[in-house]
Amino acid sequence: MSKKYVYSFSEGDGKNKHLLGGKGANLCEMTQIGLNVPPGFVITTEACLEYLDRKALPAGVLEEVGRHVQLLEEKTGKRFGGEHNPLLVSVRSGSAMSMPGMMDTILNLGLNATTLPGLIKQTNNERFGYDAYRRFIQLFGKVALSVPDELFDEEFDEVKRQAGVKADVGLNAAHLKDVSERFLRVVHHHTGKPFPSDVFEQLEIAIKAVFNSWMGKRAIDYRREFHITPDMANGTAVNVVTMVFGNMGNDCATGVGFTRNPGTGENEMFGEYLVNAQGEDVVAGIRTPKPVHEMKEEMPELYRQLVELRDKLEGHYKEVQDYEYTIEKSTLYCLQTRNGKMNATAMVRSSVEMFNEGLIDRERALLRVNPDHLEQLLHPCLDPSHHQKPLAQGLPASPGAASGRCVFDADQAEILGRAGQKVILVREETKPEDIHGFFASQGILTSRGGKTSHAAVVARGMGKACVAGAEGIKVHSRSRQATIGDITLREGDIITIDGSTGDVYLGEIPTIEPTFSEELKTLLAWADETAQLKVMANADTPVAAQLALSYGAMGIGLCRTERMFNATDRLPIVVEMILARNLEERQAALDKLLPIQREDFKEIFTIMAPRPVTVRLLDPPMHEFLPSEHQLEDELRALEQYRTVVRGRIAAFGALNLAGTSENVTEEQVNAVIAKKELMLRKVRELYEVNPMLGHRGVRLGLTYPEIYEMQIRGILEATAQCQKEGIQVTPEIMVPQVITSQELRLVKESVDKLRAEIESRYGTKLSFRFGSMIETVRACTRAHELAGIAEFFSFGTNDLTQATFSFSREDAENKFLPLYTEHGILHDNPFEVLDVNGVGTLMQMTVERGRQTKSDLKVGICGEQGGHPASIRFCQKIGLNYVSCSAPRVPIARLAAAHAQLLAQ
Ligand code: PEP
Ligand code: MG
Repeated sequence: MSKKYVYSFSEGDGKNKHLLGGKGANLCEMTQIGLNVPPGFVITTEACLEYLDRKALPAGVLEEVGRHVQLLEEKTGKRFGGEHNPLLVSVRSGSAMSMPGMMDTILNLGLNATTLPGLIKQTNNERFGYDAYRRFIQLFGKVALSVPDELFDEEFDEVKRQAGVKADVGLNAAHLKDVSERFLRVVHHHTGKPFPSDVFEQLEIAIKAVFNSWMGKRAIDYRREFHITPDMANGTAVNVVTMVFGNMGNDCATGVGFTRNPGTGENEMFGEYLVNAQGEDVVAGIRTPKPVHEMKEEMPELYRQLVELRDKLEGHYKEVQDYEYTIEKSTLYCLQTRNGKMNATAMVRSSVEMFNEGLIDRERALLRVNPDHLEQLLHPCLDPSHHQKPLAQGLPASPGAASGRCVFDADQAEILGRAGQKVILVREETKPEDIHGFFASQGILTSRGGKTSHAAVVARGMGKACVAGAEGIKVHSRSRQATIGDITLREGDIITIDGSTGDVYLGEIPTIEPTFSEELKTLLAWADETAQLKVMANADTPVAAQLALSYGAMGIGLCRTERMFNATDRLPIVVEMILARNLEERQAALDKLLPIQREDFKEIFTIMAPRPVTVRLLDPPMHEFLPSEHQLEDELRALEQYRTVVRGRIAAFGALNLAGTSENVTEEQVNAVIAKKELMLRKVRELYEVNPMLGHRGVRLGLTYPEIYEMQIRGILEATAQCQKEGIQVTPEIMVPQVITSQELRLVKESVDKLRAEIESRYGTKLSFRFGSMIETVRACTRAHELAGIAEFFSFGTNDLTQATFSFSREDAENKFLPLYTEHGILHDNPFEVLDVNGVGTLMQMTVERGRQTKSDLKVGICGEQGGHPASIRFCQKIGLNYVSCSAPRVPIARLAAAHAQLLAQ
């Protein structure tokens, strides 16, 4: 049997989005659950792939299409290409993943010189007929025949100018007839051929154009940006749907809706509609639509039906739906539905509320929120104490606040964005081809269009701030400026937009961090109950520990002790320790550091009690605490010049017999500073290493200067003893960095045991803590079974382990060649961000297995940056890790991701 490429809406499998695309599958499903969908059929994604592969439609497709057109004719009583009651269709794209506006759609297909009079007669509306015709010619011309839009726009504007009208509605049938004829000439002139009049030829060209749009630049860019891989969506389906018209009169309308408010998640009717208009008018933002609540007054019965439709959609899909509908002569048709793209606030709220309403279970409530999207909730909002007056107001289309330089086209946004500047893309309205400008911008501002306009939908999907329809702003893209009353905004001027209120301000306004909503707290509490993996934070100071706790960290997985040395009162002591010429001098410096570290540890343990705190012994190379060689050389040069000045000044004062009148610096004082700097310079040169990241750091440092580690271990254990004495239940862990062999661990462990005995007897308490190893060298992975003989826990330092596995410098790779590697697909992701499961992951898996062969209850975690990345977290769960640790603001993301990892593993 030959392959089936075409399915009618009443036969297609609504679950098979891969084959039928999301839109096609949903049209089939909606038809089959009894919703009023205009009849139609779907041409499969398989046909698309074969077409793109062979540059020809697969054999038999057109015959199948022909048979399905016949079925449509039977269902509707209309004829495709018919003179009296012509069947018109829309030809729409739709892949397995929703890619709003990225591919092409053609409406009113089937119009020509023969069918147009039929349409006019049938609707008894000449103006409507010509309006449909000119729209078709333009859309078909642009999409299927690559005629530039501007050529049509110029003709259209010319007719409006001649007619003396501003808006489309001011044009009568004769004007629109003139427009249609001009458009036909535009196509003929541009393509060298007359506009195709055969309706089947139109259909064939349109199907091919939609298939081709899968490989169009904007679709490819979109897939790359959103990591849509072929196994997620491969090719687009084509939906051929009977046209229904929302622009046949005042008993017609078209609209788009969300089953809940996509900005807040509130369970309410949400959407916009336009009476006597075609769907594109709402989406493109050409006319500013009315909020759906107004329909209650204007068309009460249809509003009731719309509420019913919304309830049925959500009840069936058990997910917030983003739907489109048309009312043709008081009959409501549902044209499309898909899962609603909402911002994180709305996703979280609707998850909790849909669970409470009994619509979904807890598992679904957790899984429907993408952990990465929680990042949006960490976005800043405007500091409410600012007193600035808004420059203009638009619709609050996508929440969040953003400041940046105005740019008036997407290309410029991309150039400046890539150069690291913050920009706000300001447009009259946006189109899908502006997508690269969205990626590069902090926020989007448009002067036209509603909350469901292209700009609003795309910005919301990206979690970027957007103010839409700020009609008080006149945007002049060509002269790269905008005017608001008598104020002119030029390219480069800084503005701030507030996507939560719709306000637009001149200049930059301070922002503040958001707070957790009750719904988010609830969702994350469910996540914690569900997850197996614990989520710790990387935090180095008491302040950071407090922050980590506020994000719900279950402990500290990495406390980098060296970060405690960076405060201004501590650095000089650390420098003293490094410059020490002998053990005695070093010990003197360490004695000063001990109480400081001990107090820090005590405070952190207390804040986190009874949660575990993993303290890592000193890791970085010493020279990181000293100025650079260049800096010291410069300073020495300056000091030597200064010494000459001081000498001159003293000589002058002496000659004038003014000795004693100068309170200024003496030569001896300058000499002392010079001597200290020279010592530092010698030390810097002594410590110099070609490759410091692979050099004298970590446990190597701890073994060559054992007194440093001893001071730190003493600090940790004394803090533990003091906490225990005060009745605070603390769970410290001592972690050794950069380990390559069990010998190193053993030596440090001996020092720990010695100090433990001394401190236990001094404080009269038995200390409770764990001793463990970081796993961040390849050799440590291979010797894991031996390390586990000494260590009670392992923590993967995947920053260094990635560096070591790839031989990529973690300092340089991301600014040098890595972008090229990811752009060209040589590497799928940046391995310093997303755990390299195939390489680094294999080492990790082996390490866990070997370690647990020796110690079956070995606790294992990860504390490299990848520990906060959802897909990496899933892998950590898979290989049996006990916890992940990441920066504090990523903790909520990791908590949800840990729950996902557990649910997806089941
Ligand atoms: C690591 O290497 O992954 C790690 C956490 O340590 P650091 O980044 O401090 O080297
Ligand atoms: Mg490291």
